[in-house]
Amino acid sequence: MALKITEECINCDVCEPQCPNEAISMGDEYYIIDPDRCTECVGHHDEPQCMVVCPVECIELHPQWYEGQDALMAKYYRLTNSVA
Ligand code: SF4
Ligand code: SF4
Repeated sequence: MALKITEECINCDVCEPQCPNEAISMGDEYYIIDPDRCTECVGHHDEPQCMVVCPVECIELHPQWYEGQDALMAKYYRLTNSVA
């Protein structure tokens, strides 16, 4: 599952540098998460770092992007070019 930033985002810039996969960037109106790069922080941290730091709790699970732990780990390996 990738995560998704909702329109409640206040563009505080806090989450972007915390993402180990460089999945967060500024969108047209507020920050967005690239689902192809978001592993829910699997492979890097025990919990999603963007959710931990967001002051307004506007980051949630992406409703159309379900992935289990194995898929998230595979994405992590792809992004880091390492072997499972
Ligand atoms: Fe980046 Fe982790 Fe947030 Fe996904 S959950 S956007 S990988 S900080
Ligand atoms: Fe938006 Fe939350 Fe990221 Fe701040 S930490 S830019 S409010 S998603």
